Amino acid sequence: MSSKKTINFLIVGQGIAGTTLAHKLYENGKSVHLIDNKYQSSSSHIAAGLLHPMSFKRAILSWKADMLIPIAKAHYNAFQTTFKTKVFHELDMIRVFSSMEEQNNWQGRMADSPMKEIIGDEELSLGFPLGSGKVNMAGRLDVALYLSRSNQFFIEENIFSEEQFDYSQLTYSETGVEYKGIVAENIVFCEGYKITQNPYFNYIPLSPTKGEVLIIKTKDLPDCILSQGCFVMPIGDDNYVLGATYDRDNINQETTQLGKEQLIEKLKAIGDFDFEIIEHRAGVRPTTHDRRPILGTHPRYSNIHIFNGLGSKGVMLAPYFARELIQYITKGAQLNSEVSVSRYSKKHLYKCLV
Ligand SMILES: Cc1cc2nc3c(=O)[nH]c(=O)nc-3n(C[C@H](O)[C@H](O)[C@H](O)COP(=O)(O)OP(=O)(O)OC[C@H]3O[C@@H](n4cnc5c(N)ncnc54)[C@H](O)[C@@H]3O)c2cc1C
Repeated sequence: MSSKKTINFLIVGQGIAGTTLAHKLYENGKSVHLIDNKYQSSSSHIAAGLLHPMSFKRAILSWKADMLIPIAKAHYNAFQTTFKTKVFHELDMIRVFSSMEEQNNWQGRMADSPMKEIIGDEELSLGFPLGSGKVNMAGRLDVALYLSRSNQFFIEENIFSEEQFDYSQLTYSETGVEYKGIVAENIVFCEGYKITQNPYFNYIPLSPTKGEVLIIKTKDLPDCILSQGCFVMPIGDDNYVLGATYDRDNINQETTQLGKEQLIEKLKAIGDFDFEIIEHRAGVRPTTHDRRPILGTHPRYSNIHIFNGLGSKGVMLAPYFARELIQYITKGAQLNSEVSVSRYSKKHLYKCLV
């Protein structure tokens, strides 16, 4: 290893994962440097930023949501205070029922713990024919602003490089890594779905999912999030995000006519609203088969790590799991086996190119 100044962490990828990890490391007094290729494959820039605790299919709490959401909100609120930039908005969320069965199921859940904290018992008179129910703890992260304000800070601190990471330039020793003159004790790859092209981690069987959203303008919708097969969420100035599609077959960042039609059809199922389409976006979520994040260390290289697999819930998962990863790397804390990268090693390492 060279005699140049050594930093603690080199982070590749400045999406929600890399950005949140960098802030948490900073809070812990660690030195970092980030690299990103101008957000070329960024899922975070496409994300609607919706945060909510439900798995609507079965009207149950989504995985660990009651623990993850308070930690996520605390992180984004602390960010707002530090950077004097409003990025998180508390919002009411309304589930619009599509059948009597759903309405009955919902009412049945109201008494169950922990659902009684999550499902509001207020009577809502929004006029939906089959009724609606309120979901507590929801909100919206302005992801683009969270990333751009963070990027401004990283540039001011001189800890950001805009480039495509070149794996062939990475060298490795017992004490750390070196990349184009940057010497670091650790490197963490936070590359979203492009991890599939990373020679250190391409053995992981990611299961990426393409998604499309529309930005629409309307005066017909209420100032809250509506959900029923899709979601429609206010983002200010009578603009709303309408999302999202799920496509496992066409992994690219192209918007499609089919995606647009699917979203419009879903909105029509909620109600007959007048709207104008302002923008159409597509991206690829870094989803995993078991819907759990991926954290940990390369099975052969002790200083090369991964933070990925945030799937469709990056806003909720990133703050808690960034903290878990830091405690694991810096303090030797045990990683939850459900999220550890080691769940892949035995079966899949044979494919590893490095
Ligand atoms: C349509 C859609 C809607 C969504 N809505 C929501 C939502 O409402 N709420 C929610 O929580 N989540 C949502 N998501 C999911 C969310 O976007 C992801 O969970 C999250 O953004 C993943 O963040 P990440 O940092 O892991 O990856 P990314 O955001 O993809 O970040 C990876 C970064 O690394 C860069 N990069 C990759 N490889 C390299 C390289 N070799 N060199 C340099 N840079 C590199 C990329 O360009 C990118 O900037 C949505 C996703 C989509 C597609």
